[in-house]
Amino acid sequence: MDLGIRGRRALVTAASKGLGRGCAEALAASGVDLVINARGADALAATAAEIRAAHGVDVTEVAADITSEAGRAAVLDAAGAVDILVTNAGGPPPGHWSEWAREDFIRALDANMLTPIALMQAVLPGMMARRWGRIVNITSQAVKAPIASLGLSNAARTGLTGFVAGTARQVAPDGVTINNLLPGIHDTERAASLDGAAARAEGISPDEARARRAATIPARRYGTAAEFGAACAFLCSAHAGFIVGQNLLLDGGATNTTL
Ligand code: NAP
Repeated sequence: MDLGIRGRRALVTAASKGLGRGCAEALAASGVDLVINARGADALAATAAEIRAAHGVDVTEVAADITSEAGRAAVLDAAGAVDILVTNAGGPPPGHWSEWAREDFIRALDANMLTPIALMQAVLPGMMARRWGRIVNITSQAVKAPIASLGLSNAARTGLTGFVAGTARQVAPDGVTINNLLPGIHDTERAASLDGAAARAEGISPDEARARRAATIPARRYGTAAEFGAACAFLCSAHAGFIVGQNLLLDGGATNTTL
């Protein structure tokens, strides 16, 4: 399917690896020029070069911490007028409700709620003035069904979801859609680190932790960044203009809900 977005310009944050990279690659495959960001300059440059070579689109890279005000300013400055925004940042560490202090919550809220909100506030006026825009926030399955050990993530991402629910309806009259993608477990470095933590806690190997987790998923496997990116690109496509304020689970059926 031609997604109808060839020649559009997208900003994808936290995109040198994993799900952010999957989204960037899928947009590039549809002919979208990119501004991509991550903290580590080397991995970012390598990803940008691979995407340019594979898809022939323009890729601008900005090495910066997207959760800092200075980092966001640098990224937004390089991005300029974008048609598509995909927000992403690293997830908070696992832990226990009894251990988290105010500063832990502030860090999680900054990264996974206030950063995507600030990015949306920056690009929305231009998208609305041009009467076309697509925003996708990468959140988590934890928004639909809490993961107790990721309480910091549950809290921050649910706050973002509430903001999007209201705002998406306010900007839709101007041709801009905002939706959230909710990953269940996907095969990325983040998943390997979560499996490592589970393995240490249970005294088993990381492979065993992964096998046990996969066995709980109806699809019996982890998702891939390419599958995730394809869903993201569709939400950013010309065909998705009537999809407003939705939360799409990509979890292989892991969340046991009817709706
Ligand atoms: P990942 O494989 O660890 O990749 C994270 C990417 O984000 C890297 O490119 C990393 O590069 C960049 N990044 C991290 N912190 C950043 C920051 N402060 N500023 C700019 N770039 C930053 O992670 P992932 O699995 O793709 O996860 C992406 C998001 O989805 C996370 O919030 C995660 O919690 C959430 N999620 C993932 C899963 C899963 O199964 N993978 C499930 C549910 C939710 P640098 O380190 O060089 O900055």
